[in-house]
Amino acid sequence: MAKEKQVYQVPRGTQDILPSDISKWHKLEELIRNFTYLYNYSEIRTPIFEHTNVFKRGNDSSDMVNKEMYTFTLENSSTSLTLRPEGTAGVARAFVEHKLFGNPDLPAKLYYVGPQCRHERPQKGRMRIFNQFGVEVIGAKAPLLDVETIALGYSFVKALGLQDMKVLINTLGDDESRANYREALKEHFKDEISNMCGDCQRRYEQNPLRILDCKVDREKEIMQSAPKMHDYLNAESKAYFDEVLAGLDALGIPYEIDERLVRGLDYYTHTVFEVVSVNEDMGSQSTVFAGGRYDGLVEYFGGPEKMSGIGWAMGMERLIIACEAEGIDLSDEQPLDAYVLCLSDKVKTEALQITTMLRSNGYRVDTDYQGRSFKAQFKTVDRMKAKTAILVGEKDITNNCVTIKDIATQTSNSVALDDIVSAMDELFATASHCHHGEE
Ligand SMILES: [Zn+2]
Repeated sequence: MAKEKQVYQVPRGTQDILPSDISKWHKLEELIRNFTYLYNYSEIRTPIFEHTNVFKRGNDSSDMVNKEMYTFTLENSSTSLTLRPEGTAGVARAFVEHKLFGNPDLPAKLYYVGPQCRHERPQKGRMRIFNQFGVEVIGAKAPLLDVETIALGYSFVKALGLQDMKVLINTLGDDESRANYREALKEHFKDEISNMCGDCQRRYEQNPLRILDCKVDREKEIMQSAPKMHDYLNAESKAYFDEVLAGLDALGIPYEIDERLVRGLDYYTHTVFEVVSVNEDMGSQSTVFAGGRYDGLVEYFGGPEKMSGIGWAMGMERLIIACEAEGIDLSDEQPLDAYVLCLSDKVKTEALQITTMLRSNGYRVDTDYQGRSFKAQFKTVDRMKAKTAILVGEKDITNNCVTIKDIATQTSNSVALDDIVSAMDELFATASHCHHGEE
């Protein structure tokens, strides 16, 4: 029997983020923490997998729930678990489980950062494990709260330097408006639905609004002539939407009303939005973040009735692609403050002591452990863009000193062992140098 060839590569649709790219992620994560701090949103971390019914709820007809979830049951167990495909459900589950609804200062303003898993056909900007930054504001319903969450995301992408951003917004109205609209859509599509795609036929029964979202049938005449949601809004829903738009105007956030926008999940009500990049390089995967208001989710998990939420999620891989498309470099590789050259095997312990002493004084330092040649070690100084090279030789140690070379000015000074830190402090206090976060 032929030996099966072992494959040690990441599974299709997943990726390693290597040290050479990690500074982009750190930059994003740092900005996320800054923004959520300013907006007074708190982080919540929920498990990577949950009981399947956290995501698969009753009559939810979304594609995600129908065919994109990684669901598994372990041997000797009847418990069905699912790798989280999105963040909202787990956060709502936790909100109820830990009775966060009892907090006197509702709404709870929460955010999360982390991986999600969906079994989709991979393409640029669409991975099977992807990272999301998302916010959920649960426990209050007010148009200006919708505005605040959009403002958070919008100012975040603006702060990254993204220019080609467009806010698309729509309303799905309240339950009554949506029920009336659903009936109108069913009436409109009833003779044509048999000529439409399988997904649409399923949506016709489960959630006809989502027919408008169809990429397959979008050019059909019957789609163009479909009734408009806005003609079915009751007065209350219309007033709510108008207040959201007025709030966006007040904050100077440009938007476009897109009546076709219905969003992929079934639990949305009132405001839905997508922030897209109009940069050509983004292709079909242009949505940078998207979300909306939802009702019923808290109740589903056993929490109080009529507790509304609003949230959005931002794909971080896609955000990085959007930045690259606009020529924004997120990478931020930090140079070393010093590289300690060990010029003899006999002084390797002293070299390590000096390295450690500098580190405990806040300097970013590394040294050689392999007894490499002076030349080889100096190449490392270059590659790591070290600002100083500290030369430690046998004779130096006998004389209780080392040589500190300032790479920028190419000047060398002999410094007593006891004075290394103060010599470095002096060097880094001058205009040509700054170190660890002082820039
Ligand atoms: Zn269709």
